[in-house]
Order: sequence, then C-alpha cells, then structure tokens
Amino acid sequence: MTIRCAAPAGLAAVLALCCPPVAAGPAAPAAVPAAAVPSAAGVSRVDMEPRVDPCVDFYRYACGGWMANHPVPPDQRAWNRFAALTDANRGKLRDILSADAADALPADPADRAGRDADQRKLGDFYASCMDEAGVEKRGVAALQPGLERIAALRSATELPALLARLHQEGVSALFRFYSAQDSKDATSVIAVVDAGGLALPDRDYYLKTDAKSTEQRAEYLQHLQRMFGLLGEAPARAAADAAAVLDVETALAKASLDRVSRRDPVKVYHKLGRDELAALAPSFGWDGYLAAIESPPVSSLNVAEPDFLKAVDGLLRSTGLANLQTYLRWQLLHAAAPWLPSAFVNENFAFFDKTLGGAHELKPRWKRCVEATDDALGEALGREYVARWFDPEAKQRTLALVGEVEKAMGRDIADLGWMGGETKRRAEEKLAALANKIGYPDVWRDYSRLAVVRGDLLGNVERADAFALARRLAKIGKPVDRKEWLMTPPTVNAYYSAPMNDINIPAGILQPPFYDPGRDDAPNYGAIGAVLGHEMTHGFDDRGSQFDGHGNLADWWTPADEAEFKRRTACIADEYSAFPAAGDLHVNGRLTLGENTADNGGLRIAYQAYEASRTGKPRQTLDGFTPEQRLFLGFAQIWCSNTTPEAERQHVLTNPHSPGRYRVDGTVVNMPEFQQAFQCKPGSPMAPEKRCRAW
Ligand SMILES: [Zn+2]
Repeated sequence: MTIRCAAPAGLAAVLALCCPPVAAGPAAPAAVPAAAVPSAAGVSRVDMEPRVDPCVDFYRYACGGWMANHPVPPDQRAWNRFAALTDANRGKLRDILSADAADALPADPADRAGRDADQRKLGDFYASCMDEAGVEKRGVAALQPGLERIAALRSATELPALLARLHQEGVSALFRFYSAQDSKDATSVIAVVDAGGLALPDRDYYLKTDAKSTEQRAEYLQHLQRMFGLLGEAPARAAADAAAVLDVETALAKASLDRVSRRDPVKVYHKLGRDELAALAPSFGWDGYLAAIESPPVSSLNVAEPDFLKAVDGLLRSTGLANLQTYLRWQLLHAAAPWLPSAFVNENFAFFDKTLGGAHELKPRWKRCVEATDDALGEALGREYVARWFDPEAKQRTLALVGEVEKAMGRDIADLGWMGGETKRRAEEKLAALANKIGYPDVWRDYSRLAVVRGDLLGNVERADAFALARRLAKIGKPVDRKEWLMTPPTVNAYYSAPMNDINIPAGILQPPFYDPGRDDAPNYGAIGAVLGHEMTHGFDDRGSQFDGHGNLADWWTPADEAEFKRRTACIADEYSAFPAAGDLHVNGRLTLGENTADNGGLRIAYQAYEASRTGKPRQTLDGFTPEQRLFLGFAQIWCSNTTPEAERQHVLTNPHSPGRYRVDGTVVNMPEFQQAFQCKPGSPMAPEKRCRAW
C-alpha cells in the first residue's frame, strides 16, 4: 500500500516531480506522446509561441503553442512532457500485462524458467486488480482481518507487534522503519526510525492558519467522516472518530521537521544505540517491535528526528487506547482505499486528487492497475519493457554522452574562478568517483519470495509491500548493493544518489522529447544532455556538496570556498523565492535550492559539452535557428506544462522542484550564453544585470 507520491526514502535528488503527474489522454494504449513531428532542427515549432519575444519570456516563446494545445486532461492534476511520455509508456506496459494475464507468453524469452514465473505473477497481479466486479463483490472483507487486529488491541504492550504488522503491510502509522546507508559510513547499511504517520501531503497542512489551509482541514475532516461512514459507523461516531484522527495527526505534525529542514542531511542524522532509542521513547516496546518486524540484529541506528520520537512517546502516554485504535483504523483504511470497492476509491479520489489536486475524473482502472503492478513488481515488468522497447544502442549512445558531459563538468570545475585549488581537487575526485547507471539494472530483482494470488487484490498489494520492506531490512549489516536501482526501467525520470554517488537514468526517459537519435544534436544536448548534467550537478548542490566522493557526509571544503559557495547558492535561493506561483504564493527558494542549482549547472555543462562536440564541424542554421538557439529550445521544450490551480498550490508547498516555467526562465536568465544566442538587450527580462552562478 505504498503511497505512490512518496519518493523512495533518502532519494532527494530526482529530476522531475517525485510523483510524475501521471497521465491521461486517449484510452488507446501506446499512444504516441502528443508532440508535433520535429523539424530537421529537432525543434518543434508548433509547440512554440513565436510572437512572444524570447528575451522577454523564453518559456512562453518555447512552450506557448504546446500549452495552448495541451490542456490538463480531466483525470490529471497536471500535464507536461513527463506525464505525456509516462502515459505512452503506460500503454506499452498494459500490452505486456494484458498478454501476461492471458498467459500469452512471448515466443522467445531468454531465461525461460525465471521469466515465466515472473510473468505469471505479473499477469495474476494485474488481473486481480482489473477484476472490478470481484473487488466489489468482496466488499471490505479483505480489510476485515486488519480491522479486527486493531480492535483486539487491549493495552500499550500489545502495540509494537500490531504496528510492526501494519508497517509490513505498507501502513505508515506513527513512524517509519526502514534501512539506509549510514550517512557517515556509506559502506554500511543501518536501520532508520523516521517521522511518519500523516495522511495529508505535508505537516504544514495541519499547522498553517491561513484561510485556504483552514478550509482544506475542514474538508479533510469531512473526508474522514465519510470514510468512517463507509465502514458502517453512524454519523455521530464518525464525526468523533474524525476529530480524534485529526488530533493525533496534528500532534505528529507539530513534532515533524519541515521540508526545508529535512533537506539538511545533518538535521536528519542522529546515530543512537538501542538503549538511547529506548530512552527517547520508553513507552514503546522496541525489542518487541524489532522482533515482530523481523529486523536483523540492530545495535545502533539512525533516529532521523529524535524530537518526533519523543512526541510519539508523549502521544502514547496521553492518548487513550480508543483514540489510538481509531487512528490506526484510519491509517489502515486510508492505505487500502485504492484497492477497495468503488465507494472507497471514489471518496479517496474526491478528497486527495480532486479537492487537493484539482483532477476532475478518476483515472481509468487499467492505468491505476498498471501503476500498482509497476509498484509491486517493477523490475519484472521493467525487464519485459526493456526487452521489447529499449534499444541497446540508446544505452551506448547515452553512455558516450555521459562521458562528454562529465568532461565538460571537469573543465567547468577547473575553470571556476571563485574556487581554490584544494577544494577543486576534492571536487574533481568526487566527479571521478561518480558512477553512471543507464537504462536498467544489470542484475534483476528476484521476486521468488513474493506470493501473488489471483483474485486477492488487497492481499497482493500488502504482500508486495511486506516483500519490499523485508528486502530492505535484510540489507542491514550487509555490504551495500551498488547495482540496485530505486526507480523502475519504464519510469520517465532520473535521480542522483548522494550516498552512492551515482546517477541513474531509466530507459523510460531515453525517448523524445528528451532524446531522439534521429534529430540534430543541439536539442539532444539541451534536453537529455541537460538532464545528465542536472543529475551530476546534484552531487555538488547545497545538499550533495556535503557528501564526499565515497558517499560520506564529510566536509571537503576550505572555509573560504564554503563561504563563497553559500553566498552563491543564497543568490539562487533569493532569485527563485521572488517568483510568484499558485496565486498568493511564491516559489520556496530554499526548498527548491538543490533542484535549481542542478538545473543551472546542468544546462551550463550541457552547453559546454555541445560546444566542445562541434569543434571542427560546420556551423549550420536549421529551420531558422542557430545551433545554440536549438540547444536552448530543446532544453525549454522538455519543461512545457499545464497545471490545475490546486495542483500548483500543492506543488509549490511540497515539491522540491520549481514549476516548469521557472525551470526554464529561472535558468536561462543566469546564462550570458543564452543572451548571446538570442541577442537579448542587457536589462531585458531574460538578460538581467544581476546573475547567479554556483557551478
Ligand atoms: Zn533533480
């Protein structure tokens, strides 16, 4: 019951939205992404709005046509190039899964035995999800055992075993327990106790007192009441239960760190011994919990937010058993809602996707089921996707491009005027240690221990979550698996991992408009080249720069260089904080600092790599655009987007990425190369006097 929008824990530096706003469009499978056929220049003119002056609003100039022609589909919160490509991929995955569900195996699978077992699981999982009539007929029976376990809770001493079971089944009640690389010793995997337990998108939704937040909390209370009502509670009881849930979650929210603080790796690292953990929250039986969740031996662990755990302890002492049971019942119901009969699915959609997210219609069932299967068996599904849809040559070409962009980054570091030689050497060491993972994993995940039962949707989702957690906990005390991926191959996204010091570029993004081997080089450098540069720069953004080349949280900066770096990133933070968004809000320049730094550095080194690649080649104007203009247009056109007002609000409040328009305009204003390419007069909006630059 993984909540789909949660980025994998510890995965801060993804390329796009942590939850790429999933797509809609026509129900036809494998729809071609709705983009115009590119010209010889590789730039889509129909997506542009040529009457806009590129020096006044480059985003609109590059994307105005796309925006006019691609309104947000009714079942989406937002629509953009990532979403459109995700939608097309989803159609391909449906073809695979429909065949698996019908037991129609492809003629020539390489490793027949293992793949057949996986394909059967994929088919059974997908078929169970698509069986809407069966789900309706079962009603809440699938939820009943969980509800009964909660109802049977008699005392606080029984809580650890119950909570462990809920955590295994994907219910994130009270706190989260998982494993991660030790920030100060990236060669070892340790246990982590982290904040959790909230159903709303962020702690601020519980705490802010402005009119919109107050209104959304009132709507949340109504939603809670209706959900309890669907479980059969009378209105007065449902209202009381809703209030109890909001009380518990508000107490947890008050003790949770805000999102900006959570970006600081020091603030979420507190390595404690078992006795210290017990002292922080003595009301909770940790030994019983660790045994019940089948954790390997834990002598020390990271308590990411000690104050949060103290608050949990306070809550356990002050909240009566009945209210705690109500809260747990809600958390179970909330996690299960998408897999229950339609009354629950629709109510869950009405609040979380419509009221908070601005979507007008529920996604067709097949899309939800493809996503669920990707969540549960993503590498089994990804293996089939790669075999059918990924061109091995794309991997080789991308690796070559990675090499060029890396070299450009090396030259960029060497040429930085503001950084001293000692820090540069350390930065170069870190860059040299960077690992590049392209397309799909070298070693596929083994799903042999995951049982999938045809006809038991909720059970399958719960078993998949239990399998994923067990797999993760089994890593505690073992050597780090450097071949592992945290995104599935069809994903249209990419990420950098600081503790691994690697970039990961799934097969799903190596397609137009990001990458097209048949088009001119310039837009490819501007699009996928800037994506590669973005991920590399994450190793050197305000957060990544605190980790060394071995993935350890260790300061490798001279004090003077560090002070100058902070001054430079503060310039970027202030720049983006001035951008208005979502009506009365502004972009949060501190929340988005890492992503904005990566956007700026990424485009600059992609530009430099492109210029280097052209040495000795003729300079060609294509379709009226110079090579540099094509590069900047290729960059801008991957960020074309439309967003509902509700989704934009949620994005600005919770997402570490800037909205699409500022990923373009906020980046190019800092590049004299852009102003030269479009001959912008100094002082025009895209050529301001003040520019920011870190890398
Ligand atoms: Zn990123």
